[in-house]
Amino acid sequence: MEVVDLTHVLSPRTPMFPAYDPVRVADRFAVEADGFYVRSWAFDEHSGTHVDAPAHFATGAATVDAIPATELVLPLAVLDVRDRLGGDPDGMVIPDDVLDWERRHGRLPGRCAVAVLTGWGERAGDPASYLNADDAGVLHSPGLAAELTEFLKAQRPGVRAIGLDTASLDPGASTDFAAHVSWLPSGRYGIENLARLEAVPPAGATLVVGVTPFEAGSGGPARILALM
Ligand SMILES: [Zn+2]
Repeated sequence: MEVVDLTHVLSPRTPMFPAYDPVRVADRFAVEADGFYVRSWAFDEHSGTHVDAPAHFATGAATVDAIPATELVLPLAVLDVRDRLGGDPDGMVIPDDVLDWERRHGRLPGRCAVAVLTGWGERAGDPASYLNADDAGVLHSPGLAAELTEFLKAQRPGVRAIGLDTASLDPGASTDFAAHVSWLPSGRYGIENLARLEAVPPAGATLVVGVTPFEAGSGGPARILALM
């Protein structure tokens, strides 16, 4: 089996959506002084490569600990939209991108996850470039059109999770978070800040979402793997 790690290293330098605090970490015990090494972490639930649980945008929807384990291991379709978006920092992923994938690889599996390779993840090592705020503080990064999430819910309801290689399901400049609002309350989940999707084939991989079941969590950092 081949394994691709789709997870960015979590650190105090991890790019954070501006609403959230930076990741904090402090030394607790050291081998030299205490005989063992332990640090203490503090982070908002939406730090680094992470899951957006349905409850992130809907009171009463599933929190991260309530996502069934069967939904955390799924056939994975990777939509490579790099050429079509052409680096557009306000580019949107649309239903045609799914239909284009299906023309090449056949219809999406009955139950699956969809991951979108926008190419934006190449900027993840440089938080300012990754978040790409303009002079007014508005972020510019590609994201999912609500037309896409509505299409998937109605026409491809077996898609249980959608993820991408940017800091938000929505385009950075969104003010209404229409993709989040469309997708998460339906009981499906999201994954943000994916890494290395270019190393995963468009079809045939299995996604493993190793998210900690934080009690009543809105989501949380996760180790995300693709198995081939
Ligand atoms: Zn999130």
